[in-house]
Amino acid sequence: MPELPDLVRVERVLRERVVGRRVIAARTGDPTVLRVMVPEDFPRNLVGAAVANVERRGHFMRFSFDRDLCLVVNAMLAGRYKLLPAGVAAREKDPVALGLAMAFDDGTELRYVDDKRMGKVYVARTTDEGSIPGYGDLGVDILSNAFDRPRFFALCRSRRDQVRMFLMDKRALASIGNAYADEILFAARIHPKSFVRDLAGDDRERLFVAIGRVLRGAIDEIQRRNQPIDVKVRDFLAVRGRDGQPCRVCGTTIRAVRVGDGDACFCPNCQPATRRLFVDWGRLPASGISVRPASPSEVKVAPPPAANETKPPRRRSRRSANRRPRPSGS
Ligand SMILES: [Zn+2]
Repeated sequence: MPELPDLVRVERVLRERVVGRRVIAARTGDPTVLRVMVPEDFPRNLVGAAVANVERRGHFMRFSFDRDLCLVVNAMLAGRYKLLPAGVAAREKDPVALGLAMAFDDGTELRYVDDKRMGKVYVARTTDEGSIPGYGDLGVDILSNAFDRPRFFALCRSRRDQVRMFLMDKRALASIGNAYADEILFAARIHPKSFVRDLAGDDRERLFVAIGRVLRGAIDEIQRRNQPIDVKVRDFLAVRGRDGQPCRVCGTTIRAVRVGDGDACFCPNCQPATRRLFVDWGRLPASGISVRPASPSEVKVAPPPAANETKPPRRRSRRSANRRPRPSGS
């Protein structure tokens, strides 16, 4: 769930509510998400520790304490933080997907819950945290002053991949997830499958500006909504999750397309293809397709029904049922 704007909000709230608080009790739930890199008994070693700081680093959230210990959380797709006020925690049963809970000296409780168990909670010495996978080799933080035009353009020059893959490479840019990669490309009017090397100077300039503008706009919007930190606020997004609906700029149907191992949502009119091989979206009806696309992997719309879906299933004779299946057409 959490992407960078969500994590900025989580970081702000947790800094206000948790920093300086002492842990009076801690418990773990599903151990799948835990990676304990210290020899001490965890989570008992948290008890008595005061939270020194909570800071976002890329897509990780780092909790440091008044002792040589830190928690580094990569919430991945579904991990979320829940802050329960004093008096509420005791009444609310632990969810099945609880990873870790810390109760503080003011009665509040922080829970990390991960329904998909894809996230990780690393428990490490500060001297060892660099070895946490994906954490030690994070790229430039795109909200920091270090992320400037020369740095971005230099990164662009080194890339041979598709622009959406580049945006989501955490070792280059820390950190952009699926939703905001789509939003940034839409704002920059760049097709998600464009190759970085084919982007003209003004494309790269628009992309650089869009990264800052889209993320800061989302940070402000999420802050303005002031929802609890476990609530995902995404209804203001322009393209992500809106495939099949009209583009708010031009009215063209938003499409979903496979890029790498993820799906990208984009507007075929606002973000025109820059190279051949793309499906001609302009010729497709708003829902479903009547012609088979050149490359089925290019599109995520209902393909025409396969032959075996339109015909009633053929009953296999006992003899053919015993035969080894052969590739069709042989
Ligand atoms: Zn559009």
